[in-house]
Amino acid sequence: RAKSGGRGTYVQYEPEMDAHLQAVQQMRVSLRQALANGDLEVHYQPLVDLHTGKITTFEALARWPHPERDQVSPAEFIPVAEETGLIGSLGEWILRQACTEALKWPPHVSVAVNLSPLQFRNQGLAATVGDILEETGLEASRLQLEITESVLLDDCDGNLQILKAIRRLGVKIAIDDFGTGFSSLGYLRTFPFDKIKVDRSFITDLPDGRESLAIVRAVAAIGRSLGIVTTVEGVERQRQFDVIKAEGFDEAQGYLIARPLPAEQATKLAHSAHVETSTTERG
Ligand code: C2E
Ligand code: MG
Ligand code: MG
Ligand code: MG
Repeated sequence: RAKSGGRGTYVQYEPEMDAHLQAVQQMRVSLRQALANGDLEVHYQPLVDLHTGKITTFEALARWPHPERDQVSPAEFIPVAEETGLIGSLGEWILRQACTEALKWPPHVSVAVNLSPLQFRNQGLAATVGDILEETGLEASRLQLEITESVLLDDCDGNLQILKAIRRLGVKIAIDDFGTGFSSLGYLRTFPFDKIKVDRSFITDLPDGRESLAIVRAVAAIGRSLGIVTTVEGVERQRQFDVIKAEGFDEAQGYLIARPLPAEQATKLAHSAHVETSTTERG
């Protein structure tokens, strides 16, 4: 796959590049159109409090109902948005949607929005976040932004400053896909994260995977001693849920609890008292 060359690198020509560039070019055109036409959607997946069984947060996840395909996964179209510079306006749109939707939920329920590292190229990102909060009227404390550690990779002092400015607004910052990068633990020292979200890959083989179990146990302990909320993504089975709860995690998210839901259904769920899988009596 061709790299969109960084400083001082040059891209060697390879025939597959044509196909790749063409596909990207095509998707870029239709993505831009979809954004302009209001064809994109945001779905919302709940995170439940493992102590009370109540929903604390919904994560906003971008959806593109595509005319020629069933759905295009965000894992596919977010990178295209990043490669083509669309991510800025796409990201703002998602943030505005999510804040607007959250106003319909009970006030103790927050909304989490994913930020692409490339959105940090916008030096005014913190101001943009502040503007959207003001415009929509959502309380800053009800917004969480999920970043991956790539935001803080090397040479990223500028990003750190932006992140601090966002946090000064009262917005909470979560580190997403925790454990998958080069130096996850190091980043806990770099920035005072409000939440750690352990990557799904550590949950998949629970409760039998000894290594995964040891790692999630350690993360729960770190979170406890640093006063950081701990959560996991990708809980699909009751036994995984039970282990995560027993290890003292604060929250969990996954298909067992609920899939990402269209806005209207999520809002209904936000107002219902209980999420069924929040008790361990099942299965
Ligand atoms: P993520 O932020 O780590 O989001 C979690 C992903 O795991 C979501 O995939 C969610 O649907 C999926 N998931 C949740 N529970 C389970 C489960 O129990 N089992 C399995 N197998 N999967 C589960 P999705 O929606 O396809 O999004 C993929 C990635 O695309 C996200 O990973 C995030 O990095 C990115 N993304 C999605 N929406 C946005 C967005 O609005 N902005 C940005 N910048 N990135 C986004
Ligand atoms: Mg996320
Ligand atoms: Mg994640
Ligand atoms: Mg993930």
